[in-house]
Amino acid sequence: MTGTDDRGLAAVVEKPETGAAIERLRAEGVYDDDRAVRAFDADTVAVPVTEPPETEVVRVVRQVGEPRVRGLDDHLRERGWTDEETERAPASWAVLGSVVLVDVEDTPRPGEVGEALLALHGSADTVLARRGIDGPHREPDVEVIAGAGDTETVHTEHGTRYAMDLSRVMFSPGNKAERTRMGEVVAAGERVVDMFAGIGYFTLPMARAGADVTAIERNPDAFRYLLENVRLNDVEGRVQPYRADCRDVLERLDGGTDVTADRVVMGHYDAHEYLDSALGALEHGGVVHLHEATPEPLVFDRPVERLRAAAGERDREVDVLATRRVKTYSEGVAHVVVDARVS
Ligand code: SAM
Repeated sequence: MTGTDDRGLAAVVEKPETGAAIERLRAEGVYDDDRAVRAFDADTVAVPVTEPPETEVVRVVRQVGEPRVRGLDDHLRERGWTDEETERAPASWAVLGSVVLVDVEDTPRPGEVGEALLALHGSADTVLARRGIDGPHREPDVEVIAGAGDTETVHTEHGTRYAMDLSRVMFSPGNKAERTRMGEVVAAGERVVDMFAGIGYFTLPMARAGADVTAIERNPDAFRYLLENVRLNDVEGRVQPYRADCRDVLERLDGGTDVTADRVVMGHYDAHEYLDSALGALEHGGVVHLHEATPEPLVFDRPVERLRAAAGERDREVDVLATRRVKTYSEGVAHVVVDARVS
């Protein structure tokens, strides 16, 4: 493709490669956020770009006469939705690989919302309505509302690839910044314990940054994807996975000559119940990341007090390094994380 008129340019890529291609184009600085990804033909999609990319793609095309960016509202109006109905349509959703995840509570005709979301996101082939996440294993309750119904996908985020089945394991779009941050705070060669590893939410970015991670997960479905994701991200040499209760694994580490950790990640809302195990594994001067679902009036006092109390039991001191809000957990309750050095 030559010429100086770059309006409407798109990079055509194979459908299964869409997520990875968008990451590469974004990294190259040519991905055009202001325009939508659209189906190109049966096997490929057109990813909008601001100039011809250096990244290898099937080909570059100019989408002549491309209409202005259309939103969900436009697609719903086309389906006969009134203004009043359109106001009750979802305001946000997440595109995870080939799956769109959306909350449709209080929304009329969820199936039509699903069809409209598929029209909006050419790279997606399934829309899942999210009903909630339950139990100690954090299992999702979802329903296919449009498309092929294939709930297994690979989602790429800052170069980290997450394979998962969204009908069996959770993935919190709202934790994206925290996943990225974990890959940034860690130094190469650090020994990390990820006590609630899931499919590798934090383990993978940390291992990709060069850390040696002990990743513990007791839910067999999540663990299967953790193993797959370790391979997919080429970090087999840096991740030691355990399918177990983290307390059992850390008891073996505590006081033994085995591994002790420079950093412990506690990505679970009930993590405070596991503080004693975490501190038992933590090297003096090591850092703990304690997550909690905290009622607003108790942000950040409660997690910090819990941390100090657990450290006090072991005659150790807590130096709070940072406190962060990750996302809203529910009305009046925040998902927070406290980073602290324990010496
Ligand atoms: N950190 C994740 C994120 O950012 O989305 C959330 C992980 S999810 C909330 C917590 C995970 O911990 C689940 O996969 C659950 O199966 C696992 N889990 C819960 N209790 C556990 C335990 N005692 N030992 C090991 N894994 C556990």
